Amino acid sequence: MSDIAEITVEDMVIDFPVGGGLFRKQYLRAANGVSLTLRAGEALAIVGESGSGKSTCARAIARINMPTSGTIRVDGAEITDPGFRQSQRDYAAKVQMIFQDPFGSLNPVHTIRHHLARPIRIHAPKLSSTEVDERIIATLERVGLSPAAQTADKFPYELSGGQRQRVAIARALAVGARFILADEPISMLDVSIRLGILNLMDDMKRDGIGFMYITHDIATARYFAERTAVMYVGHMVEWGESDSVTQSPRHPYTQLLISAVPEAGIRKTRERKAKKAEIPMRTPESRGCPFAGRCLKVMDRCHADMPPITQLQEDHYVRCHLY
Ligand code: SF4
Repeated sequence: MSDIAEITVEDMVIDFPVGGGLFRKQYLRAANGVSLTLRAGEALAIVGESGSGKSTCARAIARINMPTSGTIRVDGAEITDPGFRQSQRDYAAKVQMIFQDPFGSLNPVHTIRHHLARPIRIHAPKLSSTEVDERIIATLERVGLSPAAQTADKFPYELSGGQRQRVAIARALAVGARFILADEPISMLDVSIRLGILNLMDDMKRDGIGFMYITHDIATARYFAERTAVMYVGHMVEWGESDSVTQSPRHPYTQLLISAVPEAGIRKTRERKAKKAEIPMRTPESRGCPFAGRCLKVMDRCHADMPPITQLQEDHYVRCHLY
């Protein structure tokens, strides 16, 4: 499979069974009508609280979960087509996930060399041992783990959290990743080293790597990602060019997220509060706006009708009855 230029998700729905009887199963709707595009050399931030469906969508793109309905296309080819299945190994190499806890994704009894050599041998079985080792060293250098030869012989516990996350990124690069689905990649790191990881990923964009950057921190989304999508309980509620979404947030939930940012540089909105309410569990039968239970601007129709998509600017969209 040649390099991927674009991954497009259209109207994706993901339901998970959560119980019910023999004749009537119950489902949790984890993602509802999600449409997004990942492009080579760009980052799309997916922002939202826990339970917003961010990781579920990433896992579907990585083919860990299959969507209940909707399509995922890679340069126009649908990944569920029978013809596409033959390229599964290529796809797995080119679309890689990295996770929040870098320590949890590394086996403490193996060296960093082992962690990189194993996937390289799976995805490039014709490489000689020397070539595998050369690729390991070059990749560790690429992610800033110098001197690479010494790093390769270390065990995960000998590295800092930031270094371990660099190893996780190196493992993706070593097998030729073109898209990285980064699930909260800096949230478990010390604040002082988060910027280093973001800068590394930013640098990788210039090599054509595309990112889906999953985060609950809308401030880093603006810093790192060209485009931002805000999700709430499985729904995209506002999305578009990052500066526009973060500087002129229109959806009450986006405004709430922005108001919680403690840093200077992002304009605060007056909307600092939402109703205290449980985050709702959405099912296929759920109606209305998912944010209605917390929204201070809620109207009668918000409870009955799902808001349509409104285009606010060339690349800025919102789903809210206010617009
Ligand atoms: Fe609030 Fe209604 Fe807009 Fe939902 S659709 S965010 S409840 S105003």
